Amino acid sequence: MSFSTLVNDLTYRDRPTSTNTASTAHTDTRSQISRARSYASTAATSVSISGDISSQLHGGYSHPLARAWQAERQLTKSMLIYPIFVTDNPDEMEPIPSLPGQKRMGINRVVEFLRPLIQKGLRSVILFGVPLAPTAKDALGTAADDPQGPVMATLRLLRRAYPRLFLVADVCLCEYTSHGHCGILHDDGSLNNNLSVDRISDVAVAYAEAGAHCVAPSDMNDGRIRAIKLKLIEAGIAHKVVLMSYSAKFSGCLYGPFRDAAGSVPSFGDRRCYQLPPGGRGLARRAIHRDIGEGADIIMVKPATQYLDIISDAKEIGSDMPVAAYHVSGEYAMIHAAAKAGVFDLKTMAFEATEGILRAGASIVVSYFTPEFLDWLET
Ligand SMILES: [Zn+2]
Repeated sequence: MSFSTLVNDLTYRDRPTSTNTASTAHTDTRSQISRARSYASTAATSVSISGDISSQLHGGYSHPLARAWQAERQLTKSMLIYPIFVTDNPDEMEPIPSLPGQKRMGINRVVEFLRPLIQKGLRSVILFGVPLAPTAKDALGTAADDPQGPVMATLRLLRRAYPRLFLVADVCLCEYTSHGHCGILHDDGSLNNNLSVDRISDVAVAYAEAGAHCVAPSDMNDGRIRAIKLKLIEAGIAHKVVLMSYSAKFSGCLYGPFRDAAGSVPSFGDRRCYQLPPGGRGLARRAIHRDIGEGADIIMVKPATQYLDIISDAKEIGSDMPVAAYHVSGEYAMIHAAAKAGVFDLKTMAFEATEGILRAGASIVVSYFTPEFLDWLET
């Protein structure tokens, strides 16, 4: 039915049938209803006549539950990993100014801090060590696997206190090296890949033996996934430790607040020689292929929002394995800053960003919004 025919039809149906002034209002109301009914019936007829059924999408997502069903992956509490910064100052509980709501804490505060979150359904944390003692850093990152250091001590403590909490240990040297780089250096300041891989794989095994369910090397040295897997096999624990590789970790300015939190700013140069250039999609695909071949159980992409195509690539390349995305400190801080400036609602944006990450292909999200999501997902 054409639009002009539809208009004629409505005009015909709305012609006045009474001259009685007192009944005019009543007639008008009936006329409105009649007009609406007529429009509804003719509109429906028009669809069926034209046969254009595929254009009718609204019905499929009119109900909130039906809208949720449109997502291939719906955000659940078990998808979330919460980053925790543990210092070597046992009683510390310090807010991190550039990461609103986040804290750096000592080992004596961790159990108490996590209790309410675990009661709300927290399933997993990722631990970052923050050595503050003046003597804690050296050229080899010796403190990384100090048995009394913050990460190893916290792993042992949390395994006892919360046996069902899944513990991920970030594995890197940058928090522990005097130069702040993610490995051991040559005299010219460049990364010594062989020594770095050897050292980082030792640290990974130490974390796993201390109680980490999952070790997650974030250093980006070539060949470290294979080295860690082989040493886990050698130690007889490869069958019970997940190896999550930061495969596609891009360099850029989104890590600023994290470096504040972890005290891991390089003392010279930057990490561009080992982290990926932001435009390097092909390079990221090669790194993902490589790490899967070397024995990674989970592939991670970092940062997330600016790299959704890489998450999608990771899911395509690693179609038979979980893909994780790290919604990094800069992304988190931007959402907070924009919400504070009145640009948008914090909760709505946190969901939109995270659902975008899931839509791209991730089923695990490392997120500073985890405590809020534990509340928000309850309702
Ligand atoms: Zn690092």
